[in-house]
Amino acid sequence: MIRIERGAWETMVAHAESLFPNECCGAMLGKVDDDSKRVHIAVPIENAFNGSQAARYELRPEDLLAAEREARKNGMDLIGIFHSHPDCDAYFSETDLKNSCPWYSFVVLSVKAGRFHHANSFLPNMEQTAADKEELIYG
Ligand SMILES: [Zn+2]
Repeated sequence: MIRIERGAWETMVAHAESLFPNECCGAMLGKVDDDSKRVHIAVPIENAFNGSQAARYELRPEDLLAAEREARKNGMDLIGIFHSHPDCDAYFSETDLKNSCPWYSFVVLSVKAGRFHHANSFLPNMEQTAADKEELIYG
């Protein structure tokens, strides 16, 4: 289960809506207790994909490292990555799976006609061949 606090959630939705019709992306910082994760801070990160960003995002490794440093500084961990699907449902695509890593939660926000619509969180397996849905609570 992953719980995203109101402030972090508002940051994610605002970032997703402001970059519509392109995909946004960012990092989620927080804490993990047993099976439950709590996101305290969302960090918007520039979509570095060199091409049409309407259906693709890419994170620079140095931006992820900076997010990780920011987390440590606040006594937290980098626990997940978020991105948006403009005019598309919040599913985990083949590309998403290929570019994922098994130790993060991946939250996908569906944005339709410029407004947040719904969201899901996914946990890729070690082989990156499938991703289970994870219970997501936000706001
Ligand atoms: Zn995606």
